[in-house]
Amino acid sequence: MIKNKFFIKINSIDNVGSVIEPGGIKAGTKISDDIMTIEYIPYAHKISLKSFKKGEEIIRYGETIGYAREIIPKGSWISEDKVELPQAPKLDELPVATKVPEPLPPLEGYTFLGYRNADGSVGTKNILGIMTSVQCVEGVLNVAVERIRQELLPKYPNVDGVMPINHNYGCGVAIDAPEAKIPIRTLRNIATHPNFGGELLLVSLGCEKLIPNKYLSDVEEENIIVLQKEHGFEMMVDIIIKKAQQCLERLNKRTREVCPASDLIVGLQCGGSDAFSGVTANPAVGYAADLLVRAGATVLFSEVTEVRDGVHHLAPRVINQEVGQKLKKEIAWYDNYLNRGGVDRNANPTPGNKAGGLANVVEKSLGSIAKSGSTAIVDVLSPGEKAKKKGLIFAATPASDFVCGTCQLASGITLQIFTTGRGTPYGLSMIPVIKVSSNTELAKRWNDLIDIDAGEIVTGEATIEDVGWELFKLILKIASGKKKAWADYWGIKNALCLFNPAPIT
Ligand code: CA
Repeated sequence: MIKNKFFIKINSIDNVGSVIEPGGIKAGTKISDDIMTIEYIPYAHKISLKSFKKGEEIIRYGETIGYAREIIPKGSWISEDKVELPQAPKLDELPVATKVPEPLPPLEGYTFLGYRNADGSVGTKNILGIMTSVQCVEGVLNVAVERIRQELLPKYPNVDGVMPINHNYGCGVAIDAPEAKIPIRTLRNIATHPNFGGELLLVSLGCEKLIPNKYLSDVEEENIIVLQKEHGFEMMVDIIIKKAQQCLERLNKRTREVCPASDLIVGLQCGGSDAFSGVTANPAVGYAADLLVRAGATVLFSEVTEVRDGVHHLAPRVINQEVGQKLKKEIAWYDNYLNRGGVDRNANPTPGNKAGGLANVVEKSLGSIAKSGSTAIVDVLSPGEKAKKKGLIFAATPASDFVCGTCQLASGITLQIFTTGRGTPYGLSMIPVIKVSSNTELAKRWNDLIDIDAGEIVTGEATIEDVGWELFKLILKIASGKKKAWADYWGIKNALCLFNPAPIT
């Protein structure tokens, strides 16, 4: 990183810089020996460090993020409308497994206090989850859960909470459509999440398409409550509470025990990114991801539209041809999915991303993939598939925050790291979420929501390694229940959001 008082340049061949002056730079400011700004350039936005001809490459991260749509004089603001979108890397020409990174030295001796389950998985919370098989029963379940929370939970101090696993799937859907397997497998895998301790309680209506023991083959018949069989509302609520109490008795016996860091499954995500996300927060998370992998843990990164334009950096890192083919297959599926909807991957960036200095999805992607660190990619998962390997895994999911979060939960993550530049109060009640800000202004403004500030990497008060280590240690502490991430401290509980690419009838 090359830095002066006004801007940073990430790679020595970059021909643009990003403004680091919190108030932006006024027109007529001399920002280096030979560059004077010719207009106002906002904070985090790009400044031209040379004069561009029409069609010339605009380079950031040492990569072409676009082409000049018009002549851009030196010292200008390169706003998004001046940047032409390049083609995405062609999948059939991608070199696969050509630069597989050597394993980094193992990190020994790092542990956390987790809840070990009978199947060997390890949870970071002890929660009673009650799943619905169809949206129709949600209202009744919510009433029952509120009563469980008030009347029962105080008697079971070792249980962290009770949550309804509500969703909008189950009926009114083309249940046999090929792509219906995505929401169905997502629900199945969420039901058996490590934080639920092997307890499985299901509330069904009785006439829905998603027949409970069709998608959850191992659920006990007595743990399925069918509302159409009960005599009225009060009896429905009573039976849910009675069954919940039996589960709570067992869950209350769970205790935390010392587990190696290798028992962690950590998901990585970004949301509300800005131009600093790829310089500060995401590289620091990437460093922490390397530490986790060195400690033997499983790390998932996702968000297909946000890796699409950086896939030429990922494909050479996959461990073998087979995983490379899986990567290409998932990316191609998503290209098709977007195509079917009449858009391309540049439908991804939000007005907030753009206001935060990200011109297009290419620039966003190159910043986003920094989360993946530097280790080999050992596996690729389809949306909602369970992770089965240790090491770095690409779990193909949409980038939409809660859809990605829900898919990663199904893949078995027990903690998530979430980076943000614009700020989002994101939380997943099933697991702890640690929020990392890309800039110090946000960390100060939201000092009771942001857990770690990576903005100090730009100001020079911290390095990527410093923040990476800080995050790694915080992960172990929060996974142990010794400290709460802000989202848990305040009880921020966003709803799950299934990915259903199949038709609704
Ligand atoms: Ca996201």
